[in-house]
Amino acid sequence: MVTIKFLGGVNEIGGNKILIEDKANDARVMLDFGMNFTRHGMFFEEFIQPRTSNGITDYLQMGVLPWMEGIYRPDLLEFAGRKAHSDQAIDAIVLSHAHLDHAAHISFIDGAIPVYCSQVTHAILKALHETQPRSLGNEILDYRKRPALDYKDRPIARKFNIVKGRFKVNGLEIELIPVDHSIPGACGMLIYGSDRTVAYSGDLRLHGTDGHLTQEFVERLRIEKPDVFMCEGTRIDETENRNEAYVKVNCDQAISQAKGLVIADFAFKDTTRFKTFLEIARSTGRKLCIPFKDAYYIRALAELVPGLPSLKDDSILLYQKRRMSGTFRASDYQSWEREFLDKGNTATAEAVGRMQEQAIAALGYFDVPELIDIKPQPGSVYIKSASEAFNEEQQFDLERLKRWLAHFGIRYENYHASGHAPGPDLAQVMNNSNAKVIMPIHTEKPELFQGMAGNARVELPILTK
Ligand SMILES: [Zn+2]
Ligand SMILES: [Zn+2]
Repeated sequence: MVTIKFLGGVNEIGGNKILIEDKANDARVMLDFGMNFTRHGMFFEEFIQPRTSNGITDYLQMGVLPWMEGIYRPDLLEFAGRKAHSDQAIDAIVLSHAHLDHAAHISFIDGAIPVYCSQVTHAILKALHETQPRSLGNEILDYRKRPALDYKDRPIARKFNIVKGRFKVNGLEIELIPVDHSIPGACGMLIYGSDRTVAYSGDLRLHGTDGHLTQEFVERLRIEKPDVFMCEGTRIDETENRNEAYVKVNCDQAISQAKGLVIADFAFKDTTRFKTFLEIARSTGRKLCIPFKDAYYIRALAELVPGLPSLKDDSILLYQKRRMSGTFRASDYQSWEREFLDKGNTATAEAVGRMQEQAIAALGYFDVPELIDIKPQPGSVYIKSASEAFNEEQQFDLERLKRWLAHFGIRYENYHASGHAPGPDLAQVMNNSNAKVIMPIHTEKPELFQGMAGNARVELPILTK
């Protein structure tokens, strides 16, 4: 019999950790193992972080990680004074997409448990891994045994199985089906259990440039008639349905009218948004100037995501930040960055300052000090192409950002299209899914699913304690 347990993703946006057990097929599979930003934010902030020196203890004690026997890294358990298991309690993690609220806590999972995901998701995790400093919470691809006493100890690689379509974990058949979301490589799933078929949305939308993928996912569900459909509801209470064309038209207009510098603040993982700004750069005679981290990411995905440019493209510049000594010497940069230094298309803040009317700088809130060196001229514009502010902290950040922009006389504009489907689209997804039971996940308002799920019965998931 197939059972479903929720260790995360209930009454919260993200942190999905869903355990599917099918005894007849000898399989126990975890769907996603993401970070729950809400719980994390209740206790931690920028200057109060779980201590890496304390291993997994801080995470477990504060309920940022749920306790479950047999899933965590033996080195971390022993370091925390707990007994390590001899058998793993799960056979696999199946990852829907590379956003941290779905993937980050894989860092704590026993390395003997393999992770299954799409090729693009793996490529994204690899690019992030190679460009980030190691910490306990971002050891998805590999990890260093704790306590880390000898820095010569080599990291241990986690086993990743790159899958497409149908595959099996022991006797259990699972189908990974591409959907459209604000990161490439995102998938929904169908799990063909011994006595029931379970569907999982991951994160999705219909209104994106690849919305047809989500339609095709729903069509697969309609044919398979899942017994249970676990459906995300990030924006179940919203009707706003702005799409990428809205972003493009409005940004194009704002940029065409800008007299000086344009700053485009968007999530670098969102290749759709990157392509939107690249197209606008080309049509307005500007160059899109991207930080090295973004460049590394774009290059890692160039072969896998259609429409991404080569870094040698005429419309691309690589933004070289001032680091360490402040003299732009090679040794100021991380080893992965150094190859970009002599590509011939790097631009420092001063260089961007000299070509303000020909540049779109892909910078964000944390980069605002760069404005001191760029010296934006009158008529410059800052376009925030992301959600404005979810919570009080982000509201403060936005106010601080606006003070910086006011200081330099830069106009602020906000044009964004969400990665998540709004209520009416979710209703359409649920209605067309032919599911018998809908379980709302990845939402703070599960009760709103009642009355939106057509003929399906809505069953609220319960968090396993
Ligand atoms: Zn999510
Ligand atoms: Zn997501």
